[in-house]
Amino acid sequence: MKLITNRVYGTEDILPADSYKWQFLEDIMRKQAQSYGFREIRTPVFEHTELFDRSVGDTTDIVQKEMYTFTTKGGDNISLKPEGTAGAARAMLEHGVYNEGYPIKAYYLTACYRYEKKNYGRQREFHQFGMEVYGAASAFADAEVICAANSIFDRLGVQNIRLEINSIGCPECRPKYTAALKEYFGAHEAELCDTCRSRLGRNPMRILDCKSPICSQIARNAPQVLDFLCNDCSKHFDEVKSCLDAVKLRYRVNPAIVRGLDYYTRTVFEFVDTEIGTICGGGRYDGLIEEIGGQHTPSLGFGMGMERLLLLLKEQKIEIPEPPVCDLYVLGIGEQAKLKAFNIVEGVRNASLIAEGDIVGRSVKAQMKYADKIKAHFSMVIGDSELEQNSAKLRNMNGGKETVVPLDEGFFNAFFAAYVEDNNSELLEQLDSMK
Ligand code: ATP
Ligand code: MG
Repeated sequence: MKLITNRVYGTEDILPADSYKWQFLEDIMRKQAQSYGFREIRTPVFEHTELFDRSVGDTTDIVQKEMYTFTTKGGDNISLKPEGTAGAARAMLEHGVYNEGYPIKAYYLTACYRYEKKNYGRQREFHQFGMEVYGAASAFADAEVICAANSIFDRLGVQNIRLEINSIGCPECRPKYTAALKEYFGAHEAELCDTCRSRLGRNPMRILDCKSPICSQIARNAPQVLDFLCNDCSKHFDEVKSCLDAVKLRYRVNPAIVRGLDYYTRTVFEFVDTEIGTICGGGRYDGLIEEIGGQHTPSLGFGMGMERLLLLLKEQKIEIPEPPVCDLYVLGIGEQAKLKAFNIVEGVRNASLIAEGDIVGRSVKAQMKYADKIKAHFSMVIGDSELEQNSAKLRNMNGGKETVVPLDEGFFNAFFAAYVEDNNSELLEQLDSMK
């Protein structure tokens, strides 16, 4: 067989055998978001390009090099979302969600698109879980969002993930810092990479984020933002640290964190793994809402990479529980019996249990093998004689115990009784092993 085409470079398929891992993570994320009082927001996969130009920032790598941008047949300039914050903020403003009163707390699970070189933990289509808070200026909001991200790692049993925090100031103190950076990097202009040389005039803070060895070497001795913070920013940063101390969440202040997006102000943070790199990044973006046309609204949030989180779990050998298996497999032999089997399978499914029967025309032997393969808990064979006697043998596949059950309305009661007994004995065994 020759496929007409393969998947696009930098994209991955999530196959049926693996999707339970994603669902497990998503369930934990939804639950944690809920316990912090967040509700889900879903926004389109593409937006008008100008939204990202204005919010993410037109001097960032994301906007300059990584966006999937195209003109539609109608002439609109559209981009696939490279991150989740801009769309969520746009929707919040467009629908006047702020009329519900602040704070607004929203979370999202979304695909993101960046035209990047494929690498370990780096794809062109990837997925983010993110949380956003609008209308909250207090340091408790920063701490709450950091704690919410941390709670996901905690729930998953992740070890040794480093929380690094920094403050990158506000429009009050940033210009002084930017001027100091310009002076410092200006003295090294000839050594900087081409991209950084162009950043020098427009956004020298970006140079601190450059991954080229020479630029990062030079950046090591650059002036540090914390020395330039105004009193308000300094006080805010101290308060954030006090909140984190109050819940004994350990962090390291890393003045090198500036984040790759323009909209950040004050607090920025990352959860970092030594092997994989940044799993989660976020911070405060008090100027973003104004930038895209709203009123001044102190806001903040983070984005967590799902693919990198899965890599982290694999690296740390954290097992994700496998999904529930088939409760009952019913085999029908003969036309009438097959219809009866189909009827019983549907009835069991209506009770929210998992049941299967043959849909591919397998032989009896092959069906038995299949029931084994899908690890069905119970199986039952219905043939002519079972139909005649109006009863069949329900077989517990773990241990082989057989129970005769009626095939009329009484079947369901008899099956559920066997099901409960089986589950109880599993529970008792588990309790026994815990003693
Ligand atoms: P990096 O420095 O690794 O490029 P970033 O600063 O560009 O990351 P953010 O924009 O802050 O990343 O996105 C938040 C998270 O999304 C990252 O910490 C990472 O887990 C994930 N992420 C970002 N880009 C990619 C990508 N191309 N492939 C997979 N995950 C990604
Ligand atoms: Mg990046």
